[in-house]
Amino acid sequence: SQRVVIIGAGIVGTNLADELVSRGWTDITVVEQGPLNMPGGSTSHAPGLVFQTNTSKTMTHLARYTVEKLLSIERDGQKCFNQVGGLEVATTPARLEELKRKLGYASAWGIEARLVSAEECFKMYPHLNRDMVLGGLHIPSDGLALAARATQLLIERTRQAGVKYLEHTPVTGIERAGSIVTGVTTPSGRITADIVVSCAGFWGVELGAMVGVQIPLLPLAHQYAKTTAVPALADREINSQINGLNATLPILRHQDQDLYYREHGEQYGIGYYGHRPMPVVASSLGLTPKTVDEHNMPSRLEFTKEDFDPAWKETQSLLPILQETEIADGFNGVFSFTPDGGPILGQPAHLDGFYVAEAVWVTHSAGVARALAQILTTGHSDIDVSECELSRFEEIQLSPEYVSETSQQNFVEIYDILHPLQPRESPRMLRVSPFHARQQELGAFFLETGGWERPWWYEANKDLVKALPASWRAVERDAWSAQFHSSISAAEAWKTRNAVAIFDMTSFHRFEVSGPGAVQLLQRLTTGDMTATPGSVIYTLLLNSNGGIRGDIFVSRLEEDVFQIGANSATELAYLEKEARLQGKHASQWVKVRDITGSTCCIGLWGPRAREVISGVSADDFSNKGLPYFGVKKTNLAGIPVKIIRKSHVGELGWEIQTSAEYGQRLWDTIWQAGKLHGLIAGGRSAFNSLRIEKGYRTYGTDMTTEHNPFEAGVAYAIDLKKRGDFVGKEAIQRLSTQTPTRRLRPLTIDDGRSVVLGKEPVFYNGKAVGYVTSAAFGYTIGQPIAYAWLPGTVNNGESVGIQYFGKTIQATVSAEALYDPEMSRLTQ
Ligand code: FAD
Repeated sequence: SQRVVIIGAGIVGTNLADELVSRGWTDITVVEQGPLNMPGGSTSHAPGLVFQTNTSKTMTHLARYTVEKLLSIERDGQKCFNQVGGLEVATTPARLEELKRKLGYASAWGIEARLVSAEECFKMYPHLNRDMVLGGLHIPSDGLALAARATQLLIERTRQAGVKYLEHTPVTGIERAGSIVTGVTTPSGRITADIVVSCAGFWGVELGAMVGVQIPLLPLAHQYAKTTAVPALADREINSQINGLNATLPILRHQDQDLYYREHGEQYGIGYYGHRPMPVVASSLGLTPKTVDEHNMPSRLEFTKEDFDPAWKETQSLLPILQETEIADGFNGVFSFTPDGGPILGQPAHLDGFYVAEAVWVTHSAGVARALAQILTTGHSDIDVSECELSRFEEIQLSPEYVSETSQQNFVEIYDILHPLQPRESPRMLRVSPFHARQQELGAFFLETGGWERPWWYEANKDLVKALPASWRAVERDAWSAQFHSSISAAEAWKTRNAVAIFDMTSFHRFEVSGPGAVQLLQRLTTGDMTATPGSVIYTLLLNSNGGIRGDIFVSRLEEDVFQIGANSATELAYLEKEARLQGKHASQWVKVRDITGSTCCIGLWGPRAREVISGVSADDFSNKGLPYFGVKKTNLAGIPVKIIRKSHVGELGWEIQTSAEYGQRLWDTIWQAGKLHGLIAGGRSAFNSLRIEKGYRTYGTDMTTEHNPFEAGVAYAIDLKKRGDFVGKEAIQRLSTQTPTRRLRPLTIDDGRSVVLGKEPVFYNGKAVGYVTSAAFGYTIGQPIAYAWLPGTVNNGESVGIQYFGKTIQATVSAEALYDPEMSRLTQ
C-alpha cells in the first residue's frame, strides 16, 4: 500500500478514503482545514438532490453507483439516502419534448424512467399548480442524499479501518522532489506521501497552484432558500415515518424556470440557477473558522434576496401552497463549475503522485471516488472517465479567462435545452487554421471544438444542391435533427465520392515522438508493430491493462527515431508525454513528445480525381507504387514543403497533406487552383461525418471508450498479435481474443430511409432496451440514414431493432460492415 494523503473531508474525500480502504490500502491520511463534524465546504450545506439521468453515460453511471453506495451506508437505522424518486415537470411544449429525449437517455444508460401525464404528476405531487404542468418524467430510483451524514459515517468507518483524520489542518504546500510528489505541508508539520489527492472542492485552484497545476474550475455562488413551515404540512409525521429523512415527496425539478425543490419536513427547500453568475475567489474567503455551524461556514455567503425574487414569484405559481409561507432562511452557497460542466479527475502529465477529484457533485461523488480508487489501485476504472480527465482540456481552455467565461456560461445554461451540436457563442475564434480566410470567403458555417473553428459546410456549394442526382438529395429532417444541418452537405458528399474535395484536418491532433527511445515507447504503448520501415503508417490502439481502448492513433514513421502521431485528444498527448518522461529516466531511452498541432496544418484531399489534382502541382510519383496506401513521404507541392500521408477518413483515394502553418494559405490556394479543372470543392465536417460513418470508421470517445475492447468495437484489425515483446493490454487481449464478444458495435440502417437520429438514443430489441446509438448520420451514398449502435453479440445481421427518438420508435435493420466499399477498392485504386 502506498502512503496516501487526501486533502479535504467532503463527500468526495471521505468516499475516496473508503473506496481505497475497501481495496486494501491502509496508509491513508485525510487532511481537512475545517472541523471534521462540519468541515464547511460545499458538502456541509448541500441539499443533496440526486437526479441521475444525464446526457452523458459516464455521469449517469457515476450517479447510479453513488445511489447504490449511499443506500448501503447506514448506522443504527440512520440512512444516508432517501429514495423518494425524482420528478421533472414540463411547463412548456419544448420541455415536454425534452423530457422524451431525457427518457431516451435514461433507457440508453439503464435507468428506469417513465413519462407521466399531467394527471399523474398531480397524483404524485399534489401541491403542483394544475394550470401549469403539461407532464413529467418520473425516475423512481432518484432521491435525496444526506451528504453531511454520509460524510460522518464514512469518516467513522474508515477511521475504524485505520484512516487517520486531521482536522483544523490546512494544507499550505505540496512538496515534490523533481517530478514526484513527496508530501504536504501544514502548520502542524509535514506529512510524507507517495500519493496526494486533492479533493478540495472549489478550493481546487489554490491546491493545484501549489504544484503548478492549472485546475480549470470556477467557484460560483448558487442560491438556496428554505421557506417557513407550510401550514398544511404542519401535522405530518414524516420524520418518524422514514427514519428522520425529512421528506416523502419526490425531488422536483422545474427546469423551464431554473428551479428545483425538496421538502425539509414542514418546510420547503428551493434551489435557483436563474440568477446572474456570481464568481467567487476561494482564497478570498479566508481561513475556515474553528467553529463551523449551519450559518457560519466559508462556502455559505450572504443571501442576496433581490436575485431570488423572480424564483420566489415563480415558485408560488408552481406550488400555490407556498403562498402561505415566507422565505425563512436563504444563502448563496459556493460550489465548482467547469468549462464543459464535467468533473475534474486524474493527474497532470508532468507530475507523478498528484491526483485531483474536484468539481464533483454529491450526485456523482461515490462514483468518482470509486473510479479514482480503481485507477490508483489497478490503473483503470470500470466506468470510462475519459470525459472527466484533467488532461482533456486544451492549453487555451486552461486560461483563467476561458475558464471564467465558459464556466459562467455553463451556470446560466445548466437547465437549458441544448442541441448536441449547439456551439458556444463566446469565446470564439480562439484557434483558426491558416485556411480560415479562404473558408470565410466560401461562406463556411463554423462550429467550434477544442477552441478550433471548424467548417461544417460551405454556402459556396449551395448551387450544387440543384445539380444533385435525385438519389443523392437530402431528405427533409424533423425540426431537431435539422438544426445545425444544411442540405449542402449532401452535395459536398456527392462531390467527394464522384470528383474531389478538400477537408480542413488541422484541428486533429498531431504529435511528434522522437529520440532513441521512440520505438520502444510506441511498441510498449500501442497494439501495432512500430518496427515497420520509415515511410509506413500504422493505425493502432492504445489500451489499458484490461484491454479497454483508451485511444486510437495513426503512427507515421518518418525516420528511424522520428514518428508522427495523429490523435483525437489532448488526453492522448498527456498519456504519451507522461510515459515518455517516465521512460526517459533511463538516459539511453529518452524520448521527446512534442505537440505540433498548432504549428502545422493539414488538408485532406480526397475523391476519385484526387490523383489528377495532385499531379497538377507536383511531378512526384503518387501512384500506388510511388506512395502506397498507408505510406508517408516528405516532398513538395509547387515549391511548398509538405508531408503527405496516404490515408483517408472518408473512404476515397487521396492523401492528408501537411505543412507548417506559414505555408498553409499558399497550400490551400495551390490545391484550389489545380483542382478547378477537376471539379474540386471544399467539404465540411457534416459531409465528412456522413462519409466516415458510411465507411465504418470509428471515433474514439463517441463509438468506443475504455469500457470496450477491440474485438467488440470492431477494431481488432489494429492489433498485431504476432508483435514481439510486451505491450500494455497484451495479456488481456490474448485472453479476450479467445472469447466471443457479448456485445458489439454494429451499423444500423434506418428502414424508413429518412429519420436521422443524432446519437445516444436507446435501441430496443424484442421490446427491451439493449443498447444505444453512438454515431449517426444520413448516408448520402447509400441513400439511407445510418446509426452505429452497441448491441448484444447475439443480434444478427438483418434483424430488426427499434431506436427510440423523442418517444417514438424508428425501425432499423442491423447490417453488415462496411456499408460503403467493403472491398476497399476506392482507397487503393
Ligand atoms: P467540499 O465539500 O467543498 O469538500 C472540500 C473540502 O476540502 C472542504 O471541507 C474544505 O474545507 C477542504 N479543503 C479545501 N482546501 C483545503 C486545504 N488547503 N487544506 C485542507 N483542507 C482543505 N450537488 C448535488 O449533487 N445535488 C444537489 O442538490 C446540490 N445542491 C447544491 C446546493 C448548493 C447551494 C450548493 C452550493 C451546492 C450544491 N451541490 C449539489 C453541489 C455539491 O454540494 C458539491 O459539488 C459537493 O458537495 C462537493 O463535494 P467535495 O467533497 O468535492 O467538496
